[in-house]
This record gives sequence, C-alpha cells and structure tokens, in this order.
Amino acid sequence: MFSKIKECPLCKSIKHDFFSKLKKNLYSEILSKIVKIEEQKLLNKIENKICKNCGLVFKNYWFNDKVLEKIYNTHIPVHPRGRDFKSSLFSKPGFKREYQNLLKAKKNNNIELLQKHSRTIKSIIFSIPKYEKLKPTKWIVKKFSRSFDSNLNIELLEKNFNGILKLIDKPEEFKRFSGYESYSLWNYLLSKVKVKTYGEIGCPRWGLLEIAKKEKKK
Ligand SMILES: [Zn+2]
Repeated sequence: MFSKIKECPLCKSIKHDFFSKLKKNLYSEILSKIVKIEEQKLLNKIENKICKNCGLVFKNYWFNDKVLEKIYNTHIPVHPRGRDFKSSLFSKPGFKREYQNLLKAKKNNNIELLQKHSRTIKSIIFSIPKYEKLKPTKWIVKKFSRSFDSNLNIELLEKNFNGILKLIDKPEEFKRFSGYESYSLWNYLLSKVKVKTYGEIGCPRWGLLEIAKKEKKK
C-alpha cells in the first residue's frame, strides 16, 4: 500500500530530519476511508521530513501507484475547489440565480440552503476587485470579515443588489473564481526564466496551463 520515500523528491539528497507529525483534517479523514486504515493509525505512520540539503518538506511514506490510481481515478478525479474556477457563478446571471435561490430559501425557512447560498454570495462579492472600498459592497466588510461563514445581512444585500450586479465583471486574481490563471503571474515568470515547456503539480484547473497553451508552450 505504501512506498517509503528514501530520498528528497526534489534534489535526491538522502539526508533529512524529522519535521512534524500530521494532524487530523479533511484529507486524512477521506483518505483513511479510501484505504480502509483507521485515521489515527494512518497519521502515526506518515510524518513530515525536511531535506537537509534543499529544505523541501516531504512525507516519509506515500501511497503506491496502485492506490494513487484508485484515488485519482475513482474517488477524486477533479479537485473539488477547482470546479469553482471557471464555473458560471461569477457572472451577472450566476449572481442573480444565487440571489433568487437565497430569497427562496429564506421564504421556505430552509436554514441549510440559506447558509449555503449566503456563503456563495459572499464569495462572489469577495471576488469583486476592491470590494472593500466600493459603495455597493463595502458594507459586507463592516461586520463580516471572512468569506467562509454564512453571516449575511440580507436586507443590505437586497438594498445593494443592483449596484453589486453592475460590479460583476472579472474576478479578482488569485481568488476562488480566477485561481492562478493570471497573465501578471505568467509575465512575471517569463521575466525571470525562459519557458520552453510548462507543467504543474497540484490542481491543473487552478493554474497557468491554459495560458501556457495559448502561448504555444509545450
Ligand atoms: Zn532536497
């Protein structure tokens, strides 16, 4: 099930130190179910090491190819957050739809849906560039500073709805709806290195892959 990682995946040095134990989180919870190992046992086995040569932090054990194939093909073929990026939510019709759903949930007194749509609406507003300073949106910062909770003043939302709608155009860079697909980041990279080929580790739907393709990089 596991492969032992003997050398640093980046520089191949075999000298490393203990770095940290792992804590329970959503990943360990889901992974333990997939590989059918008790979560705490999984967390006791895998720990973080730090490479003495280059400083990379990596795991002492990692899942072998067979398990990884199962995880990425069957269980999580698409990064859950990556789905938001390029979704139609951050658009005038998307915002209108969420707003109507929110009012409907409020009318029906459906708390769960009300919270869900509140969070989504907040994350749309938080992706409007300079939302903290604009008249139709700045009210949201006064009381609520986080985009992840569901506290939303629906009265103020209704009052400012048309103003907010006008502000929805391009999402702020590096946030939920734009990910890391950014020409300023791409141009910065090009100013530092010569790019012939481009690859990415992590969720490809967050990154520069599309831009690299447009710019005819392999
Ligand atoms: Zn290293």
